[in-house]
Amino acid sequence: MQCREIITILYLRSMQIQSKLPDVGTTIFTVMSSLAVQHNAINLGQGFPDFMMSEELVSLVNTAMQQGHNQYVHMNGLPLLRERLAEKCLKLYNNNINPNDEITITPGGTYAIYTALTAVLNKGDEVIVFEPAYDSYIPNIIINGGVPVLISLEYPSYRIPWDEVKAKITSRTKMIMINSPHNPTGMVLCEDDIIQLKEIVAQHDIFILSDEVYEHLIFDNKLHLSMLHYPELFERSFICFSFGKTHHCTGWKLGYCIAPKVLTSEFRKVHQFNCFSCNSPTQVALSTYLQNENAYLNLGKEIQAKRDYFRQLMLATPFKLIPSYGSYFECYSYEHFSNERDFDLAVRLTKDYGIATIPISSFYNNKTDNKVLRFCFVKNEETLKKAVERLDKWQGY
Ligand code: PMP
Ligand code: GLN
Repeated sequence: MQCREIITILYLRSMQIQSKLPDVGTTIFTVMSSLAVQHNAINLGQGFPDFMMSEELVSLVNTAMQQGHNQYVHMNGLPLLRERLAEKCLKLYNNNINPNDEITITPGGTYAIYTALTAVLNKGDEVIVFEPAYDSYIPNIIINGGVPVLISLEYPSYRIPWDEVKAKITSRTKMIMINSPHNPTGMVLCEDDIIQLKEIVAQHDIFILSDEVYEHLIFDNKLHLSMLHYPELFERSFICFSFGKTHHCTGWKLGYCIAPKVLTSEFRKVHQFNCFSCNSPTQVALSTYLQNENAYLNLGKEIQAKRDYFRQLMLATPFKLIPSYGSYFECYSYEHFSNERDFDLAVRLTKDYGIATIPISSFYNNKTDNKVLRFCFVKNEETLKKAVERLDKWQGY
């Protein structure tokens, strides 16, 4: 053993980290993606496109770098980009957002969610979270001293059980987390959900954290019902977005949070000492790119075509569709032909058949297993075809 290692071990004997997240392991996305790489599997697990993002946007980033936009931008985000986003909010949601006081550019949507929770939560505050829940939500609440109050979406519709929500609100409820279009299920909020939410906030002083990273990835002519659109909801909301999702560049890790001035002011107190300012050339590029609204308005139709293509292919398998109306994902049930744990099945399909998916039980704190797998269909047609051919070879049904 080397001297340095011995010293480290001696140190660790006397210094103990009391884990802030003792029950947390490695995120399922990393687990399944690593397994996919190890077994050379087609990765329909983690949500990322396997096709090229807009070449125009790539070239705008190159130009921005060549023109010298390589230093810090304003800590709240490039002013021009924030102006473009404000214009978009006005056009799409009829909300006259102030780009100076109400929009903050962040290194991704996940960071925006974390920062909003950090800004708001004090020890013991309760946060209502719907399960299946995106994997970062619960650890983000816990690490900030909050208490997640878990409510299962109804299965298999994945609708919100509003009566249960009302029953679980207490004097300690600080926030409710909403995610539409929803990951992992593809559920989207409808008008009745908005009515219920309005009713709740009219009676209780609670904040809303609305994860809208799939804002434009919505199908079947459904409308995205953003918190931006309803003044009585917006006044208490942190709304989180991701450029990575909208522009097929998940690796950029760039997003933003929109919130009323007083909330944004607290958000920025945290943000300024954590990230301070985000990647500059991508912000410069996006501020030009967003001038063309087709950059995002056609997205739903384009991605729906992929969903429909994948659905068609899946008809040849006995997996049962649980329809998705938005996001990168569609869920499929196999309860009628197997009792295998979803995690075990996902691992086996990856190792033995070369197709990676995500088991839905990973999105439940208590690992509820309804025998459902999540497939990411935002891929080239050849990828989807090859993946389903591999499923076809599976003799498990
Ligand atoms: N929320 C949900 C529901 C997501 O699926 C994602 C996907 N990455 C994010 C937030 C975070 O986005 P980002 O990669 O920009 O952090
Ligand atoms: N949002 C992506 C998904 O749900 C993955 C993000 C991540 O790997 N953390 O698959």
